[in-house]
Amino acid sequence: MDHQKSGFNSKLVHGTGSKDPLGSAVTPIYQTSTFAFESADHGAQCFSGKSSGYIYTRIGNPTIEDLEKTVALLENGFGGIGTSSGMGAVTTVYMTYLGAGSHIVSHEAVYGPSRVVLETILKRFGVEATFIDTSDLDLLKESIQANTKLIYLETPANPTMTIADISAISAIAHEKGIPVCVDNTFCSPYLQSPLDLGADIVLHSMTKFINGHADIVGGIIVAKREVDYKALRSTMIIMGCNMDPHQAYLARRGLKTLAIRIDRAQENCIKVASWLEKHPKVTKLKYPGLPSHPQYELGKKQMRGPGAMISFELSGGLEAGKTLMNNVHLALLAVSLGGIETLIQHPASMTHSKMSKESKEKAGITDGLVRLSIGIEEAEDIIADLDHALSRI
Ligand SMILES: *Cc1c(COP(=O)(O)O)cnc(C)c1O
Repeated sequence: MDHQKSGFNSKLVHGTGSKDPLGSAVTPIYQTSTFAFESADHGAQCFSGKSSGYIYTRIGNPTIEDLEKTVALLENGFGGIGTSSGMGAVTTVYMTYLGAGSHIVSHEAVYGPSRVVLETILKRFGVEATFIDTSDLDLLKESIQANTKLIYLETPANPTMTIADISAISAIAHEKGIPVCVDNTFCSPYLQSPLDLGADIVLHSMTKFINGHADIVGGIIVAKREVDYKALRSTMIIMGCNMDPHQAYLARRGLKTLAIRIDRAQENCIKVASWLEKHPKVTKLKYPGLPSHPQYELGKKQMRGPGAMISFELSGGLEAGKTLMNNVHLALLAVSLGGIETLIQHPASMTHSKMSKESKEKAGITDGLVRLSIGIEEAEDIIADLDHALSRI
């Protein structure tokens, strides 16, 4: 059977279709740091790349490889690189394409640490970064410099839900020979295929939708072409932000139900967003599944579904937000997202608290902004929980 051609859910369940030699239905956890060579010659061949045998778990491991190959298949890429965390994936990409004197264009409301690492550590190493609203294509063109080495997108962005046009931006970047990387964490491969839309690299925090059960931290990068794959893998190995076999095993297990989890959470999310939008205390709700989202049409064009993330403001600002968060009972007051449980958080004081006040304002991360990650509970229960908490404001 050609697994390249099978449907999305079949790919999730069966992956590349590789069979375990002992018949195990799932890929076992190869909890080992190192692998014994058959002979001195075999060891030399493994190191020179003439044999594909395993050497050392930081370099490669069968449990991790099964996950990497499966996600690469789902993203239509050449190969996947598992990392210790989503930030391990982000920094591996930065370290591969950026160096002293180079420049990156990124979105102003990217995941907080993806921005902070550029503004602190990489700045110390001479990397220059420009953060813009990447939905503004003219601004994007103006922001590209002679030394721009990477365009980094997150769409929908965290937490403002701003959508960037991956095809249009990739066309602009490629005219100048600049690679495009997309953080696809909010959509997962089920809802958006950045490589098919023109991007060169896609990455995920697997902590979120891919694993989906809030029990591991992990990341993955998928490159469209072999050259990028090799360069990225080499950085990951040398920098040492590899995944652990047990982590890979849990992520592979969580991944099997990705589509049915997202279908269910998304169905709930549409109900919750439609209800919240009509609530008198809620303003500026942003959800790509509602026509009120400023880029509703673009979202429909490049995403196969609007996802399970909502951001909104309360008319009472920060105090109202705190009251809401202190009065939910079903939703957990927690950062992270994309799990089976509904989570609520306050970006300005939590995920984006390390950003400067000016950067937050410019990126639309106001003090009254609340982010919801909708889970797979009953939609009626999620609504009742929010209704009760909103009544306390
Ligand atoms: C969580 C997250 C990350 C970082 O992932 P970790 O697994 O926490 O390191 C990166 N990008 C986005 C969009 C995220 O939500």
